[in-house]
Amino acid sequence: MPKLFGRKRPNIRDAAAAEVPDTRPSAPRYRWKGGEDEERLDELSRIIVGRAKELIDHYQEQMRKAPSRPEAMAWFDERARFLSSPRIGEIEEHKANGGKVIGTMCVFAPLELIRAADAIPVRLCSGLHNTIATGEELMADAGLCPMVKSTLGVKMTHASPFFEASDAVIVPMVCDGKFKLGEVLQDFMEVWMVNVPHIKDTQQARSMWLDEVRALQQQIETLTGNRIYWEELKREIQLSLRAQTVARRLYDLRKADPPVINGRDSLLVNQTPHTEDLSVWVEHATVLAQELEQRVRDGIAVSDPEAPRIMLAGAPIMWPNFKIPQLIEESGGSIVADELCSGTRWLYDPIGIDEWIWDDMFQAMAERYLQPSVCPCFTPNDPRIGRIKQMIEDFRVEGVVYHVLRGCHIYNGESTRVKQSAEDRGVPMLIIETEYSQEDTEQLRTRVEAFLMLVRARRKKAAKAKRRAFKTIDGSEGGDGA
Ligand code: SF4
Ligand code: SF4
Repeated sequence: MPKLFGRKRPNIRDAAAAEVPDTRPSAPRYRWKGGEDEERLDELSRIIVGRAKELIDHYQEQMRKAPSRPEAMAWFDERARFLSSPRIGEIEEHKANGGKVIGTMCVFAPLELIRAADAIPVRLCSGLHNTIATGEELMADAGLCPMVKSTLGVKMTHASPFFEASDAVIVPMVCDGKFKLGEVLQDFMEVWMVNVPHIKDTQQARSMWLDEVRALQQQIETLTGNRIYWEELKREIQLSLRAQTVARRLYDLRKADPPVINGRDSLLVNQTPHTEDLSVWVEHATVLAQELEQRVRDGIAVSDPEAPRIMLAGAPIMWPNFKIPQLIEESGGSIVADELCSGTRWLYDPIGIDEWIWDDMFQAMAERYLQPSVCPCFTPNDPRIGRIKQMIEDFRVEGVVYHVLRGCHIYNGESTRVKQSAEDRGVPMLIIETEYSQEDTEQLRTRVEAFLMLVRARRKKAAKAKRRAFKTIDGSEGGDGA
């Protein structure tokens, strides 16, 4: 690909359209009677949006209760009201000017390519509970992960302005649920399925992944009518690198003891770029990082300095479904680290560029989505265990809460190994298997509270043992002090 500086882009939509096969079905594959009843759909959509607003109000009210919550969270709060966020107006304006919006799921879509073609990427994985029943009208499997059914239900009921604005959606084939979700969604919109190799360290996997990303580039260019040149790709990789730098800065600030930001706020900050303009996010995340750095210098804590330091691991938690982090922090725990693909993980790994030439840039950008990823859709997934162990050390984690969405086999399958490796480091782990509904909240609260008591008891015991060991060396008390 040649370097082209300052050259006006030709419109390539017509020429490229001939090169990309149209895989959309000529007729709907599924019969959905509910889709014909527009009145019912309008009513459903109204109920869903109303409930989502209630959930957002509820969680934001709880999050604002934190003593000395960072002031810089105000911008994130405003943007998190996603059904009435100013972002919707910005996207409408972009579309009115002929711009495109491309939906994504998981963390495998090459966002730099989407932005380089002047399209807006929006992550569409849903956390809404009351769209699941509609999703089940086409994906009836009771054992299927709620995120898949909820996401489908959002599209079927037209409940999300971001979904409705999307001209196409990139669906990675990572698990059974996503396979079929992509297939069903093709009755509603343009879907680009992406093959993600599950064994990623081989040469075949690398070259297959590069081909997948090249095919996506072609699809993006065809949809937008904009060819992606060196200059645009470089600009967008540099933007991602700025975002990764500030995300790492915020990540490091969570190591502070006592904590200067609570876990729910961190999760919200990391999820805001799912729909926001990344360059605007970088500005606000930088202001937040500066405020937190000042707090570290001034010793201002956001939660009880004695609160157990908890790491949240496992299946993604999507705003506004903050049931689990809310329970942990409401029960007196402090979430100081997370390894969620909807949290820290998706902005963690930088793009490693050797030389700013097209081939190197493209390859580094594509590989960044595959090689460092510790998503459990890969096997073997030893790096995830290594990363969790390292986080336990770095963040001085005292307990791990492992979130499993019922029906998510890949996370459930790794839970025993993560538990064993945490316990090898003397850190207990609680596995919570749950759905999106709030029905199990009180039952889970009892388990979380008992777990936090256990963590506190272990801390006390460890402190006592330390004191005894010290006395022994000192000669004032021998043995175990008995
Ligand atoms: S864990 Fe991996 S497969 Fe599951 S939702 Fe996140 S990125 Fe997708
Ligand atoms: S949470 Fe698990 S089952 Fe659900 S989409 Fe992600 S990987 Fe698939």
